[in-house]
Amino acid sequence: LLSPGGGLGVTIFEEMTTLAVQTGAINLGQGFPDEDGPLEIREAARAAIAAGANQYAPGKGIPELREAVAAHQQRFYGLAPDPATEVVITTGATEAIAAALLAFAGPGDEVLTLEPFYDSYGAVIGLSGATHKTAPLLAPDFMPDMAALEAAFSPRTKIVLLNNPHNPTGAVFPREVLQRIVELARTHNSIIVTDEVYEHLTFGVSHVPVASLPGAADRTITISSAGKTFSLTGWKIGWLTGPEELVAAARTVKQFLTYSSGTPFQSAIALGLGLPDSFYEGIAASLQQKRDILSEGLRAAGFDVFSPQGTYFVNVDTAPLGITDSVDLARRLPALVGVAAIPVPVFCHEEGAQRTRSLLRFAFCKKDGVLHEAAARLASLS
Ligand code: PMP
Ligand code: GLN
Repeated sequence: LLSPGGGLGVTIFEEMTTLAVQTGAINLGQGFPDEDGPLEIREAARAAIAAGANQYAPGKGIPELREAVAAHQQRFYGLAPDPATEVVITTGATEAIAAALLAFAGPGDEVLTLEPFYDSYGAVIGLSGATHKTAPLLAPDFMPDMAALEAAFSPRTKIVLLNNPHNPTGAVFPREVLQRIVELARTHNSIIVTDEVYEHLTFGVSHVPVASLPGAADRTITISSAGKTFSLTGWKIGWLTGPEELVAAARTVKQFLTYSSGTPFQSAIALGLGLPDSFYEGIAASLQQKRDILSEGLRAAGFDVFSPQGTYFVNVDTAPLGITDSVDLARRLPALVGVAAIPVPVFCHEEGAQRTRSLLRFAFCKKDGVLHEAAARLASLS
């Protein structure tokens, strides 16, 4: 059951992964790496379990990890959240998103996102009772339509929910675009919630955290997660940072979503966040190569390829192959050629789904050989 635009059916990731398993297809749908993150982090979790870190962590996270998150924000961005009051550890970015939205948005409010938007945004905005407004990102570079974005703000815009680098498009927004959004948020007195889980997965461009921009810090909650940076998506350790009042409100909600999050994983991630620059550079360089391998293969298979500046997703237009319905294609693709992918329209409301109806997203966080094999299989489509 596909649930376009934030319905609460089975998620597209669950549906496509199930289909991939049933057909034995290469799964380039749901974004998860096929190689686990650094051994030393995994060993640290094992050691934490052996040492008895197996009961509830403090609700806001263990001090060691809150301090490591604060140190990471300082080291990479010159930001200085207070680990005692301005950092909360969450059960993945997913919980941070839910806690932030449910803390501030309710019936009568509007939450503004870019479109396409990550699936949990639509679902949680729906749960909050707020109205979901969108502004489109436009191919080929998937930058926001600034006039539409301005027009989408209203006196009711309680939250502008950003995602940068952006899933599913792979766009990385430049400073000027983000600064303009900050100004619009100030004018409309909106809170900015910014999902930056792909902050370290950028290719030749720098990630600009919204919170670092003039005028942003006092109204911005920043969200990230260990899943992407350390290739440990199953650990579900995320965090949010921001000014004390905003973080406290999100923490209040978090108490009743999960109360606290995976104790032994927290200390292991604290160690991970302290890894040297070479680790962070290495993960981006490796993914950039993978992006190029898959992009080349997809081009050879006849698609129009939108090469991303960040994330581990590449989008293609299927129209050059005479295919105009990517939702239908995604359902058939695993059985047809043995590859699973995610149709972009499911990340949109109706109008956006029309605009993106021939776009398909592939994940390239896979071994090189797997990417080559997937490309070879896709070549049989044309
Ligand atoms: N936000 C975005 C944009 C994502 O792509 C993802 C997951 N891939 C998440 C949030 C969820 O992160 P987590 O697994 O840490 O909950
Ligand atoms: N965020 C991952 C993606 O976009 C999937 C996460 C999930 O399965 N919910 O592919």
